[in-house]
Amino acid sequence: MASLTFMTGRAEEAARLSSEQRLHVMQAIRQKLATDCPTVMKGDPAGAGAISSVEQNLDELIEIASRPSENRCWSAGVLDEICPACPNQSPSGNCPLREIGHCVLRRCTGAVLDAISDVMMQ
Ligand code: SF4
Repeated sequence: MASLTFMTGRAEEAARLSSEQRLHVMQAIRQKLATDCPTVMKGDPAGAGAISSVEQNLDELIEIASRPSENRCWSAGVLDEICPACPNQSPSGNCPLREIGHCVLRRCTGAVLDAISDVMMQ
């Protein structure tokens, strides 16, 4: 696995991740969720399908996770940035996953960003 240390915090660089790198990051996120948010990945009706909100917004999440630690906000502020561009949110601002509590990002924001950050430091 090639190092991800080339990422410097710009979304355009994150978007240059190879398919292999994207798979590696998603695998790390799945592993982190399995331990930190087990109901998301196992025995939950949201199940693996709900992680699509993570994959759909992966470039933006990598950009956020690559910010200097003093600029990190692993909480509601992340969703303020992600949701407007997320394909699951309608132009009117509604999100069917958010409304039924099945957005993995909303439920486990910190775990997702911690997993990305851990991969970037490898
Ligand atoms: S709450 Fe909805 S719009 Fe926001 S990240 Fe999750 S799926 Fe996307």
